[in-house]
Amino acid sequence: MPRCYPSPTAGTRNGPNLHTSLTPAARPAPTARHGTGTVAVAPIAAGSVVATFGGTATDWKGLAVVDASRRARSLQVDDDRFLVGPPDAEPGEQVNHSCAPTCRFRNAVQLVAARDLVPGDELTYDYATTDTAPYDEFECRCGHRSCRGRVRADDWTDAGLRVRRSGWFAPHVERRIRDLVRARPLGKRDVAALLDAYDRDPVAALEVALRICTGFAHGDWPRLVARLDPRLERRAGLLARETSALDWLAGWLNEARTAPGHPPIDRRSD
Ligand SMILES: [Zn+2]
Repeated sequence: MPRCYPSPTAGTRNGPNLHTSLTPAARPAPTARHGTGTVAVAPIAAGSVVATFGGTATDWKGLAVVDASRRARSLQVDDDRFLVGPPDAEPGEQVNHSCAPTCRFRNAVQLVAARDLVPGDELTYDYATTDTAPYDEFECRCGHRSCRGRVRADDWTDAGLRVRRSGWFAPHVERRIRDLVRARPLGKRDVAALLDAYDRDPVAALEVALRICTGFAHGDWPRLVARLDPRLERRAGLLARETSALDWLAGWLNEARTAPGHPPIDRRSD
């Protein structure tokens, strides 16, 4: 059985505390560009599982209270769900980003080799394929000619990158991409309907508007709120259905015609 370690925060809903595992064919090692990384020490065939991520499941609030290096080793697995490892880094947690990666995720937690790897090859993946929340943004030093410079939480919205990494995105990012391409800004009629229905049932009226502008057609209230900018201080109030927070969101949607933090809709790949 895996050894358990304390949850990163009190008061969050935590899943099982599983350790991150790394294939024996690779190990953490100093790398030229990133300090520490993970390097193959034996041949690894394309498609082989190289790492399986574990950790304690937490939300954005829980992630905010762990130190920066531990946060950078965390893995986003859903709109507002992250796996946080123990205070000391585990093998497998230190897989660097690259804009020309050698590995990819095949589900939320399993990293596989994207091509045959030989000893000395660094294991990397594109963080755009797992991240939609701004918990690990930085200037990339991967050195590849296609390096995009700064790695951002909204890289997944780039139409060209969506095409280049097609099939490589973690399931929660795939869902965001699918929804994004059918999202549209609120029109005059949508806003009129929101304001008309708001007094009767504010949450139901806001759900209708959020489903339109996020494209998340079947999202319920908590999952729609999880799609909003995680830095919003009003998220807790929205989840608790507090009148002041609901009024604020209605005002935002009326003015901005889209959800707070929702990325612009880039349809170039359509
Ligand atoms: Zn790069």
